[in-house]
Amino acid sequence: MRRPAVAITGGAGFLGSHLCERFLAEGYHIICVDNFLTGCVANVEHLMADDHFRLVRVDVSQHLVVSGAVDAVLHFASPASPVDYLRLPIDTLRVGSSGTYNALELAKEKGARFVLASTSEAYGDPLVHPQPESYWGNVNPVGPRGVYDEAKRFAEAMTMAFRRACGVDTAILRIFNTFGPRMRPFDGRAIPTFIRQALLGEPITVSGDGSQTRSICYVDDLVEGVFRVFNSDLAGPVNIGNPHEISMLALAEWIKELTGTASEIAFVPRPQDDPEVRRPDITLAGTRLGWAPRTPVEQGLRNTIAWFQEHPQLWSTENLA
Ligand code: NAD
Repeated sequence: MRRPAVAITGGAGFLGSHLCERFLAEGYHIICVDNFLTGCVANVEHLMADDHFRLVRVDVSQHLVVSGAVDAVLHFASPASPVDYLRLPIDTLRVGSSGTYNALELAKEKGARFVLASTSEAYGDPLVHPQPESYWGNVNPVGPRGVYDEAKRFAEAMTMAFRRACGVDTAILRIFNTFGPRMRPFDGRAIPTFIRQALLGEPITVSGDGSQTRSICYVDDLVEGVFRVFNSDLAGPVNIGNPHEISMLALAEWIKELTGTASEIAFVPRPQDDPEVRRPDITLAGTRLGWAPRTPVEQGLRNTIAWFQEHPQLWSTENLA
């Protein structure tokens, strides 16, 4: 019997590679589509020997043609860290717009379920806290971060248009900050940056006074949430994230303690439009999917630190090969 096939765009990235692993383990055939803009082959190398894993090097903003059956399209391709999308503003807007269009066309052609990886950044610098899916957000479209936030908001609108106008079976996930093994040490996000700095004994750089908060979800919990949304008939948007909210200063101090580093904490300027607070309201995911994060944040941090310790070659220079 044919295995159901899932095309995962951005499959060689941080989240995408964990999704490839999970869907493969669940008995799916994986078509991992990536152009390695911010991901790398190393993330999926361990899956290459599996006959049910196919890696396709394609820029989904250009085109997305897949031969054979496709039962689901998980659209995760996009630069995701502020360092990446500020360095790649046009690519970010293109993958959110043309890339999402191409991924939706593929789902339409194949009669596949479509799952969009949107983001909590769709809420911008929120005026409602915590953020339920019904909140429309507070985004500065012309600020530097607008390239990411608006690309994702456009992607959500495009997804709903394909659902309403073409009958495509779609779902929108609003993913809150997720962390875990395979985050790039130089991607600029707080957790990999703090861990890298702590392990190197360098100052741990906290922006502003560190009182701004984020809610951080371990990758295994996120993957479980994606899997449940995929298997449901939920259209979303649905928040997937961990309501455990923590200030950036407390996070830096926690990582300092867990790594046992002698690093000092150093305060650096805050980026423009950096959100003040961020916490998901996950009532919808709880009631409709029975989903809630299970991994204690400390356990997730320990796992991530251990992964960094096992890959010391990644810390000294940025290497995407
Ligand atoms: P990542 O940078 O590790 O992965 C993104 C992947 O997409 C990379 O492998 C990259 O090479 C690929 N890609 C980018 N543009 C492409 C294109 N035009 N064609 C083909 N492949 C392309 O980022 P991530 O953290 O794994 O995020 C994955 C998705 O989840 C993104 O869409 C992101 O917006 C979303 N998301 C992530 C988080 C998080 O905390 N990690 C939070 C919210 C939303």
